[in-house]
Amino acid sequence: MKIQNKATLELSHDEMKSYGYEVVDAIVDHFSTQNQKLPVVSGTRGEMEKLFLEEAPENASDPKKVLNFVLDEVMTKSNIVSHPKSYSFVPGPSNYISAMADSLTAGFNIFSGGWQASPAAAEMEIVTMNWLLKMFGFPQKKGGGIFTSGGSMANLTALVTARTVKCGDDFSKAIIYLSDQAHSSNIKAIRVLGFSKEQIRIIPTDGEFKFSLNKLKNAIAKDRLEGLQPFCLIATAGTTNTGTVDPLSDIAKICKKEDIWFHIDGAYGGFAILSEDGKQLMKGIEKADSLTIDPHKWFFQPYEIGCLLVKKHKWLKGTFTEKPEYLRDIEGNESEINFYDHGIELTRRFRALKFYMSVKTFGLGEFRKAITYNVKLAEATESFLRKSSNWEVISPATLAVINFRYNPIGNKLSEKQLDALNQRISQNVVDSKKALLVTTVLNRQIVLRMCLINPRTTLDDVKETIALCESFANEKVLA
Ligand SMILES: *Cc1c(COP(=O)(O)O)cnc(C)c1O
Repeated sequence: MKIQNKATLELSHDEMKSYGYEVVDAIVDHFSTQNQKLPVVSGTRGEMEKLFLEEAPENASDPKKVLNFVLDEVMTKSNIVSHPKSYSFVPGPSNYISAMADSLTAGFNIFSGGWQASPAAAEMEIVTMNWLLKMFGFPQKKGGGIFTSGGSMANLTALVTARTVKCGDDFSKAIIYLSDQAHSSNIKAIRVLGFSKEQIRIIPTDGEFKFSLNKLKNAIAKDRLEGLQPFCLIATAGTTNTGTVDPLSDIAKICKKEDIWFHIDGAYGGFAILSEDGKQLMKGIEKADSLTIDPHKWFFQPYEIGCLLVKKHKWLKGTFTEKPEYLRDIEGNESEINFYDHGIELTRRFRALKFYMSVKTFGLGEFRKAITYNVKLAEATESFLRKSSNWEVISPATLAVINFRYNPIGNKLSEKQLDALNQRISQNVVDSKKALLVTTVLNRQIVLRMCLINPRTTLDDVKETIALCESFANEKVLA
């Protein structure tokens, strides 16, 4: 029988080349002109639908026409999170080498799940994981880890592992502890895992936004008296709000004494360990049972790449290994790791490649320099703000995060009016599209938060942004 209508979804050799060159040209143009663009975009659902909504086309279109439409209309309608004046949330500075590495992994469509399918990809994940284990003082031989899509998935992977190791199948009495500054992804993970609200203890932080040890000890003691099972604690190494690092060594002692799994969420701040100041703050991080870090944040990788490190790699294997008959033939031998056995995903993209290529290309030293620069820039920003009679520093520069508010000396504004004023400043800045600077809430005050992890950001960028804020603060509000 002859099969009719053969379709291969292919372009000719020359078509592929010229198409690919246009894609690369567009990416390179973006990298070299992004600083001059406006970092903020806006668009309503209605506007987006008008541009994009259509039925799936049955017939082909000219490839270049589709590409140009995408370059003109799609790629221009996202905030530029790598822009020097993109200060909010956690910026994504990215780097060109890793972006190209991601193009390679997609181009070769490498399956990074099982050893035999791609031994080099698996080995590369082992090698880069070893670099990371060493960086964070985790045991090299016994330790292990896995790349995930991001910090949220790394936290989820950690908590599944913690529960399996500490509770087995019965977690009806298990209690988990985290501070009120812990990242929301942890609560999400806890809920995904099927814990009830009654099994979560949110411990208030102290005046410096750190885990309050006394309150933590009281909570654990009370739970023990009630016959519950304290099994896991989540500390944060660099909170998203203020960059604060919990007292890791003290918490480690409590966890050890109480036989509680010690998870550290270092998704925001972990990589600060590459700077001298960060290293001091991170003391005790090596005592964690599991640690989330997020290379697509402060290790300058494009989305997506998160990472979970664990003290003993056998914990991951013990938690995630299933042996279905259809994977028999790619299992490999003992020393050959199938990363699908170390986490939730089976089919995984080759995330280790961008990590590997960017570190090989630039060297760890460049990363150290960039991270140290980020920390210093936040400190310089703090000094600049403190010299002004208009600004009040609410939480000092910590791991490249600083929170402040407009509160001129001698003004007679109430707290409520200050909140409204600072909210308006942020709104006006964002509306101007010249900078992405949004608010957060600390001690019930609305404050402006700058996260300065972009090596492209200069002190002049910061000063211009502060001046922009002041110009809006001084504007008369039209009644
Ligand atoms: C960003 C962040 C996360 C979540 O990471 P994603 O990569 O966005 O999934 C978790 N914890 C902290 C502290 C974070 O800052």
